[in-house]
Amino acid sequence: MNIQKSFEHNQDGAIYLVPTPIGNLEDITYRALNILKEATVIAAEDTRNTKKLLNHFDIHTPLTSYHEYTKKEKIEHLINQAQNGALIAVVSDAGMPAISDPGVAIVEAALEQHVKVIVLPGANAALTALVGSGLATDQFYFYGFLPRKKKEKLNALNNLKQIPATLIFYESPFRIKDTLEVLQEVFGKRKVTLARELTKRFEEYIRGSIDEVVSWVKEEDLKGEFVIVVEGA
Ligand code: SAM
Repeated sequence: MNIQKSFEHNQDGAIYLVPTPIGNLEDITYRALNILKEATVIAAEDTRNTKKLLNHFDIHTPLTSYHEYTKKEKIEHLINQAQNGALIAVVSDAGMPAISDPGVAIVEAALEQHVKVIVLPGANAALTALVGSGLATDQFYFYGFLPRKKKEKLNALNNLKQIPATLIFYESPFRIKDTLEVLQEVFGKRKVTLARELTKRFEEYIRGSIDEVVSWVKEEDLKGEFVIVVEGA
């Protein structure tokens, strides 16, 4: 068992997971900016990307890289720093760290060592798309990225067929057409919403039956970032 009282003994070090904008730079909280300013170090998925964000907000905290392939020793070093009072801010390229992004390994390692893990609320593509989809929000199932190969994709979707909750997927613009065709094969007449370029200038919601949306994507040159939201069973 592990009981964390996040704000007792405020001089303790901690790992902060800090969400960053998914497109619109105004989508960052005052608290996130303060933590990024006060942090001892910011562990970033891509330091060059994060540097641009930090420059925009005139933040000069040192950066170090932290990604999916970060070695155990590096994670241990960050946890060690936190144990010695450092405040480590973890950010991904966009949105909530650890949601289809690096972050999980450092959370696990921190909890093992009884280091506080403090998560700031903020931008996330899945929840934004869900709320804008027009589909039920009382129950939802976030899948993230589907497997790339058709057979594995079919298997994964068939396993989700009976779920009554709204389903949420992330997908790359290069695979969106293929994925929608597989969705059509598995889910037939259900409703779907494509949420494209959320919070950005070309933000767009394409809401309809899977058949309608499949016809629409066939005519389009698909660019940008997409979330697919599918009606539950
Ligand atoms: N951690 C992020 C979050 O909290 O949303 C997700 C990171 S994941 C590597 C990137 C995927 O999220 C994209 O391929 C896309 O499916 C979705 N995504 C991110 N930003 C988006 C946006 N502005 N509009 C639509 N989808 C977006």
